[in-house]
Amino acid sequence: MRTPIIAGNWKMNKNPKETQEFLDSIKGKLPESGVEAIIGAPAIDLTTLVAGAEGTPLKTAAENSYFEDAGAFTGETSPKALSEMGLDYVIIGHSERRQYFKETDEDINKKAKTILKNNMLPIICCGETLEQREAGKAEDWVTGQIENAVAGISAADIAKSVIAYEPIWAIGTGKTATADQAQEMVHVIREKLASLYDQDTADKTRILYGGSVKPANVKELMAKEDIDGGLVGGASMDPESYVALVNYQK
Ligand code: PEP
Repeated sequence: MRTPIIAGNWKMNKNPKETQEFLDSIKGKLPESGVEAIIGAPAIDLTTLVAGAEGTPLKTAAENSYFEDAGAFTGETSPKALSEMGLDYVIIGHSERRQYFKETDEDINKKAKTILKNNMLPIICCGETLEQREAGKAEDWVTGQIENAVAGISAADIAKSVIAYEPIWAIGTGKTATADQAQEMVHVIREKLASLYDQDTADKTRILYGGSVKPANVKELMAKEDIDGGLVGGASMDPESYVALVNYQK
């Protein structure tokens, strides 16, 4: 039984004060069980986020971390320090990081391993461009990203990890993949995990859909067999909308 996840991704938005205001607004409004509620926030907000999440059902995520624990890497974020601060998850391989910061599949694989070594869980993003979809190359592209991202990671670690399928053409565009399109690719990813590992591992790994998820479409997406949750950008920043998303079962 895979516990569904609703994970917010604030991207480069909100300061610590706004983070605290958000936390105050959602207090007591998250489900105690049945859904895992996660917020991914910029590094400067994480101290506030972790302190505010303590003693509540909210889980916390960084939006990136480096693949070394420490050293001369000016401006990077240490996964070891994130773990010591109490972070639960790190989002890696977001298409914005791949596109603007030139992150490669190899970087993402190294990051995933370092995150797991530090007792946190990676949320590994993948997804195709519109051109790739229209050229009929989406499945090969996405399964290739997954194969590279998980190389050398054990079945037990992958079963605990999270994958987020985010078609690039649906991120921040208001264009949601149809629930059928999302289900289809999430199923392909699960089949890929089954071929790389085994069916049990594939059945345990949570795979999210991301791309213009909002309170109005979350139920339809979550009704799909293979979709275990949403990675949500825009609609996670407003407390009311986030509370509606995490309570989609009610
Ligand atoms: C995202 O940031 O991962 C995302 C899916 O954004 P949005 O929900 O705004 O499309």
